Amino acid sequence: MDRCIEIPPQSGAAFVVQKGQYLTVIDPQGKQVSDMVLFNEADSREKISSGKTMDFEESVLITKGNFLWSNRSQKMMEIVEDSNGRNDFLLAPCSPETFKIMYDNPDEHPSCLNNLIVNLAKYNIAPDDIPTAFNIFMNVQWDQNGKISVLPPTSKANDFVRFKAEMDLIVCLTACSAEDSNGGTFKPIHYYVSV
Ligand SMILES: [Zn+2]
Repeated sequence: MDRCIEIPPQSGAAFVVQKGQYLTVIDPQGKQVSDMVLFNEADSREKISSGKTMDFEESVLITKGNFLWSNRSQKMMEIVEDSNGRNDFLLAPCSPETFKIMYDNPDEHPSCLNNLIVNLAKYNIAPDDIPTAFNIFMNVQWDQNGKISVLPPTSKANDFVRFKAEMDLIVCLTACSAEDSNGGTFKPIHYYVSV
């Protein structure tokens, strides 16, 4: 049976998913974002690309039936299930500076970028090589003038997104640390890999 792994609030995890395997990312309590970045296991200079994905999928809303593409225009994953249906691929991972610039908070604060950096170090992936993440369950809205706003996720307890790997991948997931992205509270994220 599949072994479900917990990512505690405001932390992250990195692991390998082989071509043809499925990755399921679960929001166990609801209203919790998980940032996901992908790298080709054979050459980590190839990585997930927001720009290529929105170009080739012809949408800014990426969900079931869409592929996640690399900076080398290769398919990295297919989204095969999405019980919530709202994800973001516009905004970069929250970083220490996010809280200074957007929250007017000068104090140290956990962030997705730091959690990606810490967890990807074992794969020799450097901080500057981390791309814009696919933000699972993140609810970014915009008006007709292009003004964007970050609203609480619409995900309910046990909503999930299931991905099929199109190549051997290094995957890093977070349980996001930004107050506004998660309805003001920090919850865990669950995931498992299956064949
Ligand atoms: Zn975050």
